[in-house]
Amino acid sequence: MSPIAHFVGSWLVAAAAVENRRDRRLVTLAGILPDLDGLGMVADVAKSLVTGQENTFAYYHKFHHLWLHGWPAALIVAAVLAGLAQQHWRVALWCLVTFHLHLLFDLLGSRGPSPADLWPICYGEPLFRHPVWFWKGQWRLDGWQNTLIFLGLFATSLGIAVKRGYSFVEVVSPRMDGVFVGVLRKWCRRGAPASSG
Ligand SMILES: [Zn+2]
Repeated sequence: MSPIAHFVGSWLVAAAAVENRRDRRLVTLAGILPDLDGLGMVADVAKSLVTGQENTFAYYHKFHHLWLHGWPAALIVAAVLAGLAQQHWRVALWCLVTFHLHLLFDLLGSRGPSPADLWPICYGEPLFRHPVWFWKGQWRLDGWQNTLIFLGLFATSLGIAVKRGYSFVEVVSPRMDGVFVGVLRKWCRRGAPASSG
């Protein structure tokens, strides 16, 4: 799935699992941090721009899905984020959940354009080469399945935001979140029938 879908999905888990904003942010972070190992793409583009050589995405392929998509990274991420939390053990547990949901959704739907472009999950990397998991039915990263899942997650998160008064924007900025939820609630009041209040 795309990083934005991982973000919204992880926030939904966080909103269901932990009560305070700080811990929700940490649990959400655990679900998007794995894709930091894809930042080699930035280095690839920069290198290609500087040298004028064709971009082969060498760093991206070298690190993505290898450094932060296995159990060693899951343990480190959960331990570090739990150390910053209010409810340490609860956040550690839910960080492991969002981290692994990220891996699961990558396993389900992150392949390239051709059916042979499967992205495996190298669960022991970067310490061990095994186990390696892949699923032959893996759908495309830009496939309709991912779009549908994202729209479902997004709509659900907006519903929760209107009801509870906070949204996934709180992960970026509580102040922006206040504005965002205010606008959402205003739209809902406008859309609601007059008799409902
Ligand atoms: Zn990923």
